[in-house]
Amino acid sequence: MGWLARMRGDTEKPAGQGRPAHVFFTNTLSGSKELFIPLKPGIVTMYSCGPTVYNRAHIGNLRAYVFSDTIDRTLVAAGYRVRRVINITDVGHLVGDGDEGADKMAVGAAREHTTPAAIATRYTKLFIDDISELNIATDDILFPRATEYIKEQIALAKTLEEKGFAYRLHDGLYFDTQKFPGYGKLGGISDAQLEAGARVEVVKGKRHPADFVLWRTAKPNDLQQWDSPWGRGNPGWHIECSAMIRSLLGQEIDIHTGGEDHIGVHHNNEIAQSEAANGRTFVRYWMHSAFLTMGGEKASKSLGNVVYLSDIVEKGFHPLALRYFFLQAHYRTPLSFSWDALAAAGSALDRLWRLSRDIAEESKRTSKPSEARDSFLAILRDDLATPQALASLWDALRSEEYMPEEKWGLIETADAHLGLSLATPPETKALTSADMPAELQQMLAERETARSSKDFAEADRLRAAIEERGYRVDDGPEGPVLTPRTL
Ligand code: AMP
Ligand code: ZN
Repeated sequence: MGWLARMRGDTEKPAGQGRPAHVFFTNTLSGSKELFIPLKPGIVTMYSCGPTVYNRAHIGNLRAYVFSDTIDRTLVAAGYRVRRVINITDVGHLVGDGDEGADKMAVGAAREHTTPAAIATRYTKLFIDDISELNIATDDILFPRATEYIKEQIALAKTLEEKGFAYRLHDGLYFDTQKFPGYGKLGGISDAQLEAGARVEVVKGKRHPADFVLWRTAKPNDLQQWDSPWGRGNPGWHIECSAMIRSLLGQEIDIHTGGEDHIGVHHNNEIAQSEAANGRTFVRYWMHSAFLTMGGEKASKSLGNVVYLSDIVEKGFHPLALRYFFLQAHYRTPLSFSWDALAAAGSALDRLWRLSRDIAEESKRTSKPSEARDSFLAILRDDLATPQALASLWDALRSEEYMPEEKWGLIETADAHLGLSLATPPETKALTSADMPAELQQMLAERETARSSKDFAEADRLRAAIEERGYRVDDGPEGPVLTPRTL
């Protein structure tokens, strides 16, 4: 089966009945909230800049993919078919992010004494595993690799050269940004910022600091190189997105997403390449997510302040605790990570799962429409206001105003949008002392001693310490029961 047929909407999943519901998004291009209207009625084409697979994705990167997944879920629930691509960068992205430094894939290959292709395979799999753990339906997304689209990237660069948008230098073919009117329009990047952002002295002969490489002449030891009209070489980083979008989704697409760090250079370069080559609008709605920060700084591999999903799981959290944590902030607001905040998100999700189990029983999983559900939908369809949507979900589930069937209807809708497994919460399993780490057994015993000598302050301190390690304590008739907090 071809990928298009595999993608959502072409096979088992029917389009919504009638006209899709109204959804509003903030478009970085206009800087304001707009009613979403796709190019073709009922169908959405969406592209998200993907990972450079020389290393694991950290939780900052993962925020960007939970964000695009929330767009996807909201549109599907509103009645659209969504065709999605996330590219896998396995060549061309240099350590300097611009036109300087070694190729990140070569750095990864040297670090692990293997080939760029082996590195790409390894980290692509880990990336897809990570986002699957966050309830992102990876079977519905196409993940093309840049090295599989070399022909298309060369064809695009050639068109740009033929149309007079590119010039040759000793080390490659460059895009001439001054030939493209409106360069820098995304995010309103000024000339001064463009000059500051790109270093002209790095390449002799560059006509403007913002000009960028389309095709780079191979250096003798380049591990990945191909023949081209400009000699052997490899593609610049930006051209892969323009080329894969044109091949897989069309010349004009509905939504393009990425982290806000891509606005200034990468996305303005994609626009310049695609609109210059195709002579038409490239993207209708540009959407960007704000950073995840660690102690006030952007989480990034180069700053060394990153946390991985595996670290979170190792500490006893469910991966969806991270998803809940992301959803507590609006996608356009920076979000500061801390273990305490993650623990709070994990226990909130745990409580939500408990509520949901009870409501499933009371309602016998029968759903009825309600005002609460309508208002939940309206909130999310207004630029994905996930914090307010969570608050309205909590209010309604705790309220006595709604019948269990109405609450169950809301849970199903919330589940479809938020991807928190609300309708199918994971089973909670109590720990026996045999599978309890020794340290926990000790703390639990100390807490019992404190309780029996009525030292409640000490007992509470120990409970908090146990909970910090990812467990919950319940005092049952046969003594305390320990359960992994979100398992
Ligand atoms: P990269 O692998 O660096 O190209 O990044 C993959 C995606 O993660 C891009 O959409 C980036 O904008 C995004 N990203 C990188 N660092 C962060 C961060 N600290 N917070 C949020 N998004 C990020
Ligand atoms: Zn891109």
